[in-house]
Amino acid sequence: MLELPFDNSYARLPERFYQRQAPQPVQHPELIILNRELATQLGLRGCMDSTDADLAHVFAGNELIPGAEPLAQAYAGHQFGQFVPQLGDGRALLLGEVVDARGQRRDIQLKGSGRTAFSRGGDGRAPLGPVLREYLVSEAMHALGVPTTRALAAVTSGESVLRDRGLPGAVLTRVAASHIRVGTFQYFAAREDRAALRELTRYTLDRHADSPVPADHPSPGMALLELVADRQARLVARWMGLGFIHGVMNTDNTALSGETIDFGPCAFMESYRPETVFSSIDQGGRYAYRNQPAIAQWNLARLAEALLVADDDPETHLEDAREIIGQFTARYDMHRLAVLRRKLGLQTDRPEDAALIDDWLHLMAQAEADFTLSFRRLGNLLTASEALQGMDFDATALKTWRERWLQRLAAEGTTTETARQCIEHTSPAVIPRNHLVEAAIRAAEDQQDLQPFHDLLAEVTQPWTTRAEDARHVQPAAPDERVYQTFC
Ligand code: AMP
Ligand code: MG
Ligand code: MG
Repeated sequence: MLELPFDNSYARLPERFYQRQAPQPVQHPELIILNRELATQLGLRGCMDSTDADLAHVFAGNELIPGAEPLAQAYAGHQFGQFVPQLGDGRALLLGEVVDARGQRRDIQLKGSGRTAFSRGGDGRAPLGPVLREYLVSEAMHALGVPTTRALAAVTSGESVLRDRGLPGAVLTRVAASHIRVGTFQYFAAREDRAALRELTRYTLDRHADSPVPADHPSPGMALLELVADRQARLVARWMGLGFIHGVMNTDNTALSGETIDFGPCAFMESYRPETVFSSIDQGGRYAYRNQPAIAQWNLARLAEALLVADDDPETHLEDAREIIGQFTARYDMHRLAVLRRKLGLQTDRPEDAALIDDWLHLMAQAEADFTLSFRRLGNLLTASEALQGMDFDATALKTWRERWLQRLAAEGTTTETARQCIEHTSPAVIPRNHLVEAAIRAAEDQQDLQPFHDLLAEVTQPWTTRAEDARHVQPAAPDERVYQTFC
């Protein structure tokens, strides 16, 4: 029998924060994968004595681990700019929380576990494809050192899920620092439920603040806003430094913890074009790569509005909120510069760095060069002026830029070896290339072949290791393999 040391603080919050709901059993669950390293961190016991069938049963939601108190969390959200006062977990259930080996409280959630009070017209289920995509991309993000929810397990349900066609169904077990979203605050603000907002603010601060926020703080809401502003600025800077496009930065998909959450039609950009959009549901390009920092700021403003509903002194704190939101751009720029300096191998900050970085990005954009390869190959460009040959860079402009860059490194006394190591720990050799993710999904859907998924997972969770130049996982898609649109 499986055991997890559940301690369910969210289930102890008032009943109007959620709806209690048991998972709906599936017909014929089969285990795809259990993340054993993560399971150990979480204190999951009994895996060794469990068969794959036992594990499949549990991670499909057919059987609950003792201590689980499944519930669907209530939240609202702005979806593509439109406010929806009630969304909530329509296909997910929080099983409970555990305090992990590092002392961090983590949510354990099933996704695809059946209908809830928040399902509206939906079936509460998840197709296999999106489950595999979330597994691959969230585990890759973790390996890349980006704050993210994790994947603990995936099972197929043995049932068919009807979308535009019948698709194999699956259930994902997701682990998160919490599932509290901007939309969770908006849910209570829309109801003018000040008591709930205050309780949620306190709960979120207790759970996520780096240092305790005293009970008599003049505005716990503004303390929370500041914390979230910093986490989001850091997070989006990390995404931008990897060419990652979230795809659906709605306020219900913005976690206050600062983790990347909800891997829907997300993608890593290949050819560098800042206006890139992948998501099939993003017709207006709202969530284009280059818009992500401004959208994070917009979402922060929505959080501020919700928090001010419960504030004791909303006039004073409106000014504070304006200041925090106004400073977001500078905060983001600081984190962005820090990320990109490291990607150029620089160890110190100098005023001229912003121009050096922007000129490099401009060269990349002109060449529409592969984002990942361009940065990774800077490691070779340190010593070999021809390292970017064959990538359509303007040779003369690149030569000039390279000289400036090498002079800048020399000026701070950074050796080639230090710079190379820094580049190779900040610019991955391997990311989850969209065409490989799609190929792994297709093999699983069409041929019940999960080997490509397992192979790709092994590659993307070792992102820093240098591979042969022509390795399949390193190279961008060939023209006939390119993915232009992603679906969720
Ligand atoms: P998402 O696009 O995953 O961020 O979900 C947006 C909202 O739609 C959330 O309230 C989800 O719970 C809900 N939702 C998405 N898919 C389904 C589904 N298959 N059944 C019920 N609700 C769903
Ligand atoms: Mg309730
Ligand atoms: Mg969502």
